[in-house]
Amino acid sequence: AAKSDGRGKHRFYEGGMHRNAETRRQIENDLRGALVGNGLTLNFQPIVETASETLVGFEALVRWHHPRHGEISPATFIPIAEETGLIDGIGEWVLRNACMVAAKWPEHIGIAVNLSPIQVTNPQLPALVMNALAQAGLAPERLELEITESVFLEENPATRATLQRLGAMGVRLTLDDFGTGYSGFAYLTKAPFKKIKIDRSFVSGAAERGGQKAAIVKATVALADSLGMITTAEGVETHDDLDVIRRIGCTQVQGFIFGKAVPWAEAGILARSEAPIAPNGVKSNRPR
Ligand code: C2E
Ligand code: MG
Ligand code: MG
Ligand code: MG
Repeated sequence: AAKSDGRGKHRFYEGGMHRNAETRRQIENDLRGALVGNGLTLNFQPIVETASETLVGFEALVRWHHPRHGEISPATFIPIAEETGLIDGIGEWVLRNACMVAAKWPEHIGIAVNLSPIQVTNPQLPALVMNALAQAGLAPERLELEITESVFLEENPATRATLQRLGAMGVRLTLDDFGTGYSGFAYLTKAPFKKIKIDRSFVSGAAERGGQKAAIVKATVALADSLGMITTAEGVETHDDLDVIRRIGCTQVQGFIFGKAVPWAEAGILARSEAPIAPNGVKSNRPR
């Protein structure tokens, strides 16, 4: 039976349920159906330059609306897609669609697409990316590919070559969720990264007094600076956290304070608007 998470969303597939082989097979079948039958959509979350509060791009985030179980989080279905091999088809669909949508935006607006580590082990990836860009008519410099350090967990020489090739094409590479994994500094040198995305777990609550999060964000920004990379702070929801992130000097901000991921039509309107994007997060009452 479906559970509710209290916000009206079903959690049929969450919790320990996917350990059940029957349930997993059902998810796999439903997900395959969604991939071929227009059951997946892409939403786009604004990424804002911290200093100017102007929009610089969007991150494409995949959504699955299940006909019976409602919205299912990518955090739930992407791992299943990875285990069942569906990730290649889903990843290609995401990439092609994200490029097509972004090609309609003004040229200064970029698009960030998440790659599963499995996609990165596929030697066909650079050709696929090249084709998606060409078909959409999108300049490689406008595409940013987000990968996590788990890409490097298996020493795979093909992975490194693939990432070098993507970088050489002019596509920008970003290390996503920085700080959550092993975060050996060596990962930063294994691909031509242009950007570090600082994980929400360090950003959200960065303004807490006596907390250590701000110190970690600060150290990460200093590291990125000295390596010639820029940073995005992910998961900024409050004015207090935004103040801290701004003071520390993160290049970009992405978080509910500037907006959740929205459908392509809404993203298009934002992309064409010249006005700065206003932070509208909750103001904290906490005394300073
Ligand atoms: P991610 O790449 O780190 O994406 C950021 C996630 O943080 C998104 O969740 C976004 O909605 C959420 N987020 C952004 N700002 C805030 C905030 O201020 N507060 C809170 N509470 N959350 C915020 P989402 O869309 O549920 O995606 C979760 C993860 O699923 C992504 O993490 C990414 O790892 C994966 N994912 C999503 N779309 C794709 C895709 O197309 N391909 C692949 N391979 N993975 C994807
Ligand atoms: Mg990401
Ligand atoms: Mg992230
Ligand atoms: Mg994340």
